[in-house]
Amino acid sequence: MHQFFDRSIEFLKGVGPHRAETLNKELQIFTFADLLQHYPFRHEDRSKFYKVKELQPDLPYVQLIGEFKSFKTIGIGRRARLVGVFADETGSIEMVWFKGIQWVQKSLTIGVKYVAFGKATLYNGKFNIAHPEVEVLTEKNAKGGYLIPVYHTSEKMKKKGMDSKFITKAMKVLLVEAVNHIPETLPHHLLQKFKLIDKKTAVVAMHFPRNAQQLIIAQNRMKFEELFFVQLRLIKLKIARTEKYKGAIINTSDLLNQFYEKHIPFELTGAQKRVVKEIYADFRSGQQMNRLVQGDVGSGKTMVAFLSILIAIGSGFQCAFMAPTEILAEQHFKGLQEWTKPLGIQMARLTGSTPTSERKLIHEGLMSGVITILVGTHALLEDKVKFKNLGLAVIDEQHRFGVAQRAKLWTKTKDTYPHVLVMTATPIPRTLAMTLYGDLDVSVIDELPAGRKPIKTKHFFETKRLEMFGFVEKEIKKGRQAYIVYPLIEESATLDYKDLMDGYEGITRRFPNYQISIVHGKMKAEDKEWEMQRFVKGETQIMVATTVIEVGVNVPNASIMVIENAERFGLSQLHQLRGRVGRGAEQSYCILMSGVKLSTDGRKRLRTMVDTTDGFKIAEVDLELRGPGDLMGTRQSGVLDLLVSDLVKDGEILKTARIAAQDILKTDPKLQKPEHQMIKSHIDSFSKNTVNWGRIS
Ligand code: ADP
Ligand code: MG
Repeated sequence: MHQFFDRSIEFLKGVGPHRAETLNKELQIFTFADLLQHYPFRHEDRSKFYKVKELQPDLPYVQLIGEFKSFKTIGIGRRARLVGVFADETGSIEMVWFKGIQWVQKSLTIGVKYVAFGKATLYNGKFNIAHPEVEVLTEKNAKGGYLIPVYHTSEKMKKKGMDSKFITKAMKVLLVEAVNHIPETLPHHLLQKFKLIDKKTAVVAMHFPRNAQQLIIAQNRMKFEELFFVQLRLIKLKIARTEKYKGAIINTSDLLNQFYEKHIPFELTGAQKRVVKEIYADFRSGQQMNRLVQGDVGSGKTMVAFLSILIAIGSGFQCAFMAPTEILAEQHFKGLQEWTKPLGIQMARLTGSTPTSERKLIHEGLMSGVITILVGTHALLEDKVKFKNLGLAVIDEQHRFGVAQRAKLWTKTKDTYPHVLVMTATPIPRTLAMTLYGDLDVSVIDELPAGRKPIKTKHFFETKRLEMFGFVEKEIKKGRQAYIVYPLIEESATLDYKDLMDGYEGITRRFPNYQISIVHGKMKAEDKEWEMQRFVKGETQIMVATTVIEVGVNVPNASIMVIENAERFGLSQLHQLRGRVGRGAEQSYCILMSGVKLSTDGRKRLRTMVDTTDGFKIAEVDLELRGPGDLMGTRQSGVLDLLVSDLVKDGEILKTARIAAQDILKTDPKLQKPEHQMIKSHIDSFSKNTVNWGRIS
C-alpha cells in the first residue's frame, strides 16, 4: 500500500523527469507522498460560477446556479438512482444520486434557485454531475465561497510555468488515485472521542475544501494527528528508556548535608529545595534521570545543580558540568571552586582552548577517577573524553545543545547511563517545552531568592539620551556600577563596531571622572578577562560591551543595564541582558534605548520588556513573534519541522494530543492491542523514512 506513496514524482501524469528534477530541487518533493503533503499555505475563494453552456470535460469542480426542473428515479432497489434536471438560462444538465435518494429528493424543491457544486463528467454525450453539493442560493453563496488552494513555489519554478496552478493540477491528478491508498492512522476511538474526521476526507479537504469550515475541520484533524504522533513518539521514547537504561543508584546525601550544614552561603529558596528533592528522588529510583530544570534568570539554578553534584559525588560518582560558552564554563568553574574548596573535591576544566598536554592529564584523571568534577564546553563531548564512573551530567543553558549531543553523554561511561540534568536559562513556553523536551521530566524553579527587588525597566527614545546619562550618573554617585551594551549583529559587524566605538567615545567624554571598561569580541581573551576583572573588582564604574556579557559575569553591585539600539535585540536576549543586574540588594534598572522609528514587532518587544520581568511571559511573546523555528536556534533540531501545526496557535490541540498519547501508552505501552496496530505501523513507517526522527532519539 505504501509503495504507491513511495513512487517517484516523475511518474505522476503531467510531471515527467524534467519537472521532477525541479520539484526535487526547489521543494524537496521526491515522491507521491511528498507532493501530497505539500499542503497549500492558503486558499482562495473561488468566485466564478459556470454556465451550463460553458461546461467542458476537463474542468475541475464547478459551481452552477440554477433550478431543478424535474426529478425522476430510475431503476429499483440497490441500483436505483435519482436524476434531477438542473437548468440555467443557457441549458440543462443532469444531477445524479446513487445514495440517500429519498432524503435528497425530499430536501430539494423544484423551482427554487440553488448553487450546485461538483465535477461535471460527460456521459453518453451529455454532462452530468454525480452527488453534487447543493445549497439554496443565498446572498452569501451567490458571491461564491469555494476555496482554491494556493501553493508555495519558487521563482525558478514560476519561470518554468510551474506555479501554484501547476501544483494544483498535479495534486488533483494525484488525489484521484491517492484517495484509494490513504490509510487511516488514528484509531476509531480517538476519532470518536475528539470528533475528528477520517484521514482520507481530511487530506482531500486540506487541498480542496468545499468551504472554509470544512478546511478548518480538516486542519484540526491533521494537526491533531501530527502532534499526537510527535507526542506518542516522545513518550514512547521515555518509557523505553526508563525500561532499558538503568541509572546509577545514587543514594547517599552525606556530602550534601555536610555542605548544607557548614558551608552553604545562603538560605535556599523553597523552589530550590523542592527541585533538589525531585532530583534526589530520581537518583534513588534506579532509573536513568532525564530532567529539565526551568528557572528564570537569577533563580539560582547553579546551586541546585551543585547540590545534585554533591549527592552524586558523595555516592561515589563523577560529574560533568557543561556550559555553552568558554566564558560561562570559566565562570562556573570558578564559582564551583569556591563551593568545593572546603570539601576537598578535585575539579578540572576542559574547553576548546585547553592545551594538549593538559588534556592528556585530564583524560587520565577522568579514567582513574581522581577528577570528580569536569567543567567545560562542548569539548566534554569529544570521543576521547571517558570517565571511570560518570554518574551525573549537568547541561547548562540547554537550548544550545542538540538532543543528539545530550545522547552522546550516555556513551561516556561503561556500565550505567549517567543521569542528565538540563538547565534552561530562557524559560520556554509550555507548548514548546512539551515538544522540544517532551521526553524529559520537568522541574520549575518559580521563585527568586528573597530580597531581590524587581528590576525597573524604562524605554527611552534616542532624543532623551541626556536624561539617560544624567540618571546613570546619579546612580554611579550612589556607588553603583552600570553596563552599557551595544548590539552586534554579524551581518553588519563593521558598522556595529563603529557604533560601539563611537558610543564608547561619547561615554568617556560624558563621564570624564569615572573609569570605563570596554569588552568586545575582537579583543584577545586575556584582555577581555582583564577588563572584566577590573569591573568585577569595582575599579571601573561603567562597562561598555557588546553582547559578550549576555551570559556570564555576575557583578551584584552593577545595578544599571543600558541597552543601546534595544529594538535590534530579540526578546530572550533582552531578558538575558537584563538578568545581569538585579543580583544585589539595591534597586536595579534596565534602560532600553531606541530610535523613534520602530517596527510593530520592535515596539511590542520593548513594551513587553517594560511590562513584565516574568521570563515565562516573555518567552510566550517571543514565541508568538518569532515562531518556534527561530526561537533558541531550534530550527536544526528537527523536532519542530511540523507540517501543519503551529505551536503558537495550536497549544490546545497539542495538550489534548499529548494526553491522548499518554492515555494510550499507559494502557498499551508496546502498542500491541489490535486497535492500535494502525498507530504502530504508522510510527514504524515514518521512523524508517524521515531523518528528523532519527535526530531526536
Ligand atoms: P541562574 O538561575 O540564572 O543560573 P545563578 O545560579 O547564577 O542563577 O544565581 C544567581 C545569583 O543568585 C548567584 O549569585 C547565586 O549565588 C545567587 N543565589 C542563588 N540562590 C540563592 C539563594 N537561595 N539566596 C540568595 N542568593 C542566591
Ligand atoms: Mg545560570
